[in-house]
Amino acid sequence: MPDQETLYQRGPGLSPRLIIALLIAAFSLISYFASTSYNPITEKKQHLDMTPRQEIALGLQSTPSMERQYGGESHDAAATAEVKEIGNEIVSKTDAGKTPYKFDFHLLADNGTVNAFALPGGQVFITEALLKKLKTRGEIATTLAHEIGHVAARHSAQQVAKQQLTQGLTGAAVMATYDPNDPSTQNTAAVAALIGEVVGLKFGRNDELEADKLGVRFASDAGYDPRSMISVMQTLDKVAKSRTPEFFSTHPNPANRITHIEQAIASKYPNGVPDGFVK
Ligand SMILES: [Zn+2]
Repeated sequence: MPDQETLYQRGPGLSPRLIIALLIAAFSLISYFASTSYNPITEKKQHLDMTPRQEIALGLQSTPSMERQYGGESHDAAATAEVKEIGNEIVSKTDAGKTPYKFDFHLLADNGTVNAFALPGGQVFITEALLKKLKTRGEIATTLAHEIGHVAARHSAQQVAKQQLTQGLTGAAVMATYDPNDPSTQNTAAVAALIGEVVGLKFGRNDELEADKLGVRFASDAGYDPRSMISVMQTLDKVAKSRTPEFFSTHPNPANRITHIEQAIASKYPNGVPDGFVK
């Protein structure tokens, strides 16, 4: 079959390396888009291949090492009880409680790191350093509600699926451009890896804004003033100007988030936030 042979030899466009790269890319894309599920909380379709049970197991598994990184569990029993009480109240009074997730709230002893975060499946953490900056129950509630939002929106599972896709595509790009006989092509491979990381970061920021929106919804559904989230952002903005807390490695600039939070509040309460919320 001479035709076939000439086809394969006709320039770099269809080299065996490129064919393999295309197969890797196609496989990554197919497995990413084939694993779709509908999220009733965000009312969006998501690409992920983890079950809620797996998310819960993963979160519980990572909890001890997470706690160790932030000085372990707090010894302040009263503050710990308050965090758990507010967190559980939000879950029991909102749609977050209708999800399959097993929520638990942890106050961490770390006094120097201003941070809050959630693991997949419902383990939510806040450091003593951040808790001390929060002035009201409403501020604690909106902070926890934001983290509950990450869990309910399944952001970690989504991130894992996206990372797998990015890795697949990056692998394909490296495969297509890297020539072992020409070391200079290693640069192209490095650039491909970098693109992968940047894409990941951008997804993360959109997730933050979605978690803010869900935070507004969950906090106000539980009776807390959603505007407390704005004062949290103002406080964090002040912290950011004096030093760079850990919080900003995982969360966008608070000043940029305030506009989005105000929009989320206005769309939930077009006639203004009614009286009677806990601030
Ligand atoms: Zn967040």
